[in-house]
Amino acid sequence: MTAIRATNLTKRYGRTVAVADLSFDVEPGRVTGFLGPNGAGKSTTMRMILGLDRPTGGSVLVDGVPYRDLRHPLRKVGALLDAKAVHGGRSARDHLLAIAQSNAIPAGRVMEVLETVGLREVARKRIGGFSLGMSQRLGIAAALLGDPEILIFDEPVNGLDPDGILWIRTFMRRLAAEGRAVFVSSHLMSEMAQTADHLVVIGKGRLIADTGVAEFIGRSSQAYVRVRSPRLAEVAELVKVGELHPDHLRVTAMTPLEIGTLTARAGLPLEELTLVRPSLEAAYMELTKDSLEYSS
Ligand code: ADP
Repeated sequence: MTAIRATNLTKRYGRTVAVADLSFDVEPGRVTGFLGPNGAGKSTTMRMILGLDRPTGGSVLVDGVPYRDLRHPLRKVGALLDAKAVHGGRSARDHLLAIAQSNAIPAGRVMEVLETVGLREVARKRIGGFSLGMSQRLGIAAALLGDPEILIFDEPVNGLDPDGILWIRTFMRRLAAEGRAVFVSSHLMSEMAQTADHLVVIGKGRLIADTGVAEFIGRSSQAYVRVRSPRLAEVAELVKVGELHPDHLRVTAMTPLEIGTLTARAGLPLEELTLVRPSLEAAYMELTKDSLEYSS
């Protein structure tokens, strides 16, 4: 069963269209990255999935039903939206106990999840004194309380140090390997490339791409050779497989050595022969550039 299914999902705030006619699926057993620039509508979408915001149009189903119709929501879906939005005066353990109690989850589960996220040692410490990384782990512990099949994380690595980032990344991979559906948002392509199996890319609330990460990387970062010459037309004719641009030739099917050998034999001078490997970030910027609200 599809874990999350959004169909023509739309959300307006007055005249602002936060999410527009968005359709996508999140499947179990993989990390689905929800990627888009700031303000693209990622948090709004996640809030609608969790029944915290009502769609203006369309629908989103969790395991086939609207979130509010789930009998035991925390046992189906765990979410981390804003890690710092917790009561600072409580201990980590008491915080989780309160959530467990109000959701009919056995109290014994609390120390289990604290152990899982590596917070067992600080279980009795006040949350108010936690670092951002510790707060993130506590938020993840809360999401795991009901042992849910579906996990939703909104920008979980924002502001974390490299150790914290690596830990979250590894942890999300592990949750997916256990067969769970993991839906995680980020505005960073580089982050998603290392964590996700599948990508749902949005800009200005609209779907831009819904694709496998390997596919996205293969398609967007295909290397090519840029060739420039004062006798470009003749070079193009000789090379045959190139794509001719006004001031250069773009060749994907040959190496620089092959092109250089060919043109040297024909006595054609070259001004440039460069292997170009576009970065993933560049491909993502290219993809979303039309959807940025304010271009600098
Ligand atoms: P993201 O999570 O991708 O950064 P958001 O979902 O937070 O994007 O925001 C999408 C758009 O909706 C933005 O233009 C934002 O200003 C607007 N928005 C979000 N929440 C509200 C709200 N409660 N009232 C008015 N506008 C909102």
